[in-house]
Amino acid sequence: MKMMKKVLAAVLALTLVFAFAGCGKKETTESSSTEAAQKSTIIFGTNAEFAPFEYVSANGVIGQYDGIDMCIAKEIAAANNAEAKIENMEFDSLLVALKNKQIDAVIAGMTVTNERKQEVNFSTPYYTATQVMIVKEDSTIAKASDMKDKKICVIQGYTGETCVKKLGYKYESFKKGTEAVMELVNGKCDVVVIDSATAEKYVKDNKGLKIVKDAGAFGAEEYAIAVNKDNTELLNKINSAIKTMIENGKVSEFAAKYAEAVAE
Ligand code: GLN
Repeated sequence: MKMMKKVLAAVLALTLVFAFAGCGKKETTESSSTEAAQKSTIIFGTNAEFAPFEYVSANGVIGQYDGIDMCIAKEIAAANNAEAKIENMEFDSLLVALKNKQIDAVIAGMTVTNERKQEVNFSTPYYTATQVMIVKEDSTIAKASDMKDKKICVIQGYTGETCVKKLGYKYESFKKGTEAVMELVNGKCDVVVIDSATAEKYVKDNKGLKIVKDAGAFGAEEYAIAVNKDNTELLNKINSAIKTMIENGKVSEFAAKYAEAVAE
């Protein structure tokens, strides 16, 4: 029995030593490594072909990925003590990947539409855009109906494609915005219908192009983050982070920063 008591005392003493050791410097490293191990990851799917929202850059904010959406994704993760990871894929594959749970959320300058709402849930919108027409500087296209007999380029699966389809005009669709704009630059098409901020970027990057707007034909579109319908927990977290970022001006700050980066 005496022996047992001794063992118990020794165990207790050791426990105390460890407990105290835990209060010292060592604990900082230990707890931070446990934190790192516990730090969850939010996997955001995107299509990094959509500057200023997402594009590949040598010095991105999340690895090689840069842009307004990437800053927003990073903030959402930070607000939840998580790490943001990016899965770059074709725009058309994003909602499928989300439904298959390969990714946790889609952040891709994605417009909220009724069709998409059938498939996924959307967060609070964080940006308002519209479709515009990019044409050559000397183009006679001044309104959407002028596109009627012109060669129109759109990007596959973008809302721009839906808009042109609704207008009833024929068009050719491309996988990437850059490909469509190259067709225009090379005189192989007359107009590219694409989102406003991205259009600004293309016009700044390519000489001889201009933007034509037609608010009557193209309405306002709201960008939001898409989440799987059964993941309301993440949706709530994203919504609260977006609310904070809208209120503290971060979203506008990111938008201004990247609009400028684009203008350089
Ligand atoms: N806003 C457009 C859409 O949702 C284009 C988005 C994008 O290319 N990333 O279809």
